[in-house]
Amino acid sequence: MQGTEAGKPIVKFNHCQKSIYSFSVPPRCPLCRHDVGSRRLEEAPISISNPFTNGHHEKCSFLLRPTQGTFLREYDGRSDLHVGITNTKGVVYNYTVHGVQRDKAGWEQSVSIPLLQPGMFGLMDQWDKYLEDFSTAGAWLPHRYEEDHHNCYSYTLMFINCVLTTEGKERLDKNEFTEKFVVPRTRKASKYITLYRAIEERGFYVTCPSWRSPPSGSGLC
Ligand SMILES: [Zn+2]
Repeated sequence: MQGTEAGKPIVKFNHCQKSIYSFSVPPRCPLCRHDVGSRRLEEAPISISNPFTNGHHEKCSFLLRPTQGTFLREYDGRSDLHVGITNTKGVVYNYTVHGVQRDKAGWEQSVSIPLLQPGMFGLMDQWDKYLEDFSTAGAWLPHRYEEDHHNCYSYTLMFINCVLTTEGKERLDKNEFTEKFVVPRTRKASKYITLYRAIEERGFYVTCPSWRSPPSGSGLC
């Protein structure tokens, strides 16, 4: 089920030989004003997968959200991002200038990356204790915080590397982690945000089916 925190769901349907995106299928096509009516199965609307989830419902995951505001409202592609790790109860551990925070709210619209492979139940049993012990280390005291070098990223990455080591896998450096995990998801999120805001503004968004991705700025073709 999709909560309102993650935004309204987006559907795509075809009419007038175009792909039309909206929050729900309208009774009439916004382009030709004809009944959208009954259609063949292959023309049935499809839902567009939402890149955001309620982080407090995610276990043992890496989470990403804008430092200020939310992705759908405030994010502009360059905004600062804040990151954290969930325990098995959806509490988000994150490191700030005030030390390690244990948030029970505020991560309702996050990009989430699961950190445990399916079947790693042994590790999941220990997860909350690992995360708590890791977080009480002196390295994460408030006065050690440095905006560029010892920040929320350092905290999550070091924890992820502890997990990878436990799993017998190679450690990641910050660039590798960003390139492999973060960038593809923020790119997908940015596309979704463009689409979402366009629908919010006009009620729908249109592309020619031959277009691979909607160009930003223009709604009609
Ligand atoms: Zn039409």
